[in-house]
Amino acid sequence: MILPLTAFGQKSAGREVKQLQSPQNPALGIVIHGGAGVITRGTLTPEQEKEYRVVLEQAVLAGYKVLQAGGTSLDAVEAAVRIMEDSPLFNAGKGAVFTSEGTNELDASIMDGKTLKAGAVATLKHIKNPISLARLVMQKSPHVMMIGEGAEKFARENGVETVPQSYFFTQRRFDALKRIQEEEKKKAEAEKAGKKVSLVESKKDENRHGTVGAVAVDKFGNLAAATSTGGMTNKKFGRVGDAPIIGAGTYANNNSCAVSATGWGEYFIRLGVARDISAIMEYQAMPIQQAVDAVIQRKLPALGKMDNEDADGGVIAIDKFGNIGISFNSEGMYRAYIDMNGKPVVQIYKD
Ligand code: ASP
Repeated sequence: MILPLTAFGQKSAGREVKQLQSPQNPALGIVIHGGAGVITRGTLTPEQEKEYRVVLEQAVLAGYKVLQAGGTSLDAVEAAVRIMEDSPLFNAGKGAVFTSEGTNELDASIMDGKTLKAGAVATLKHIKNPISLARLVMQKSPHVMMIGEGAEKFARENGVETVPQSYFFTQRRFDALKRIQEEEKKKAEAEKAGKKVSLVESKKDENRHGTVGAVAVDKFGNLAAATSTGGMTNKKFGRVGDAPIIGAGTYANNNSCAVSATGWGEYFIRLGVARDISAIMEYQAMPIQQAVDAVIQRKLPALGKMDNEDADGGVIAIDKFGNIGISFNSEGMYRAYIDMNGKPVVQIYKD
């Protein structure tokens, strides 16, 4: 059963509900993100800001073009995510962060809201576009999730483009790893000498986040969600975050919404963030913006508080009417959507 979900102009968490219906009938819509973090005015130079804006606009338009041409939401989210994976700006594909071993290990997942079919991949080292491999796992294997060498073997068997590890090298991400490792070394030494030191670099969102994702609704009213990431800088061997976990970083259900998340993955897994948002909408008939705020503005910080940590991050979501929900508890989130006039809107900061 489809629940009545539209609620224009409502207030949620003290903010104006940002909902929109696309001009088309039935609604077409797409929202993308490129990671959440401490992104305040002034953290980016005007040139950097422009670079982000250009790629975000390209990505959202690429997805929208698919929808306008009558394509599926799955095609749209894959197209948008691939563009961000190919950009060195985002922590996915080309711009992936480094593990503690100095390697790059990529995770991704995709979900079809009509069938609840899903595909996920984790700890990939040689796949140029992990999101496309996740889709193949969904469509060409009997499984939902494949990892590491097995997933890469499956990729080669299916003609998926592979690249050497060196493809993922970017100086900026490598420098971030070195800064964090240097700081951890100093901390360990200080602790040996009985001093207490708190980590600064490892907590900087710029060094941790930057995952990409997309959610869309197509002319058939079908929803899809996709998320792709390099994880968190200095993550330990074999660490898997929320991005490839269906229900944590990605979820799509035509009865509720499609969700893609970014943020401190361990907390998103522990809360089952994406599925929780979907469930709130489905069981409580809550409008989409209220549902995303309930989890991101309240449950997530509350769980972090229990550990004395700042469980930061955000989500994008869309329902089958084209209503969108965007929520983040960090200073900013790279994001873009198509407005009611069919125009791209790109946003970075809170205001
Ligand atoms: N959620 C990702 C992870 O924990 C990181 C991010 O969103 O930037 O792997």
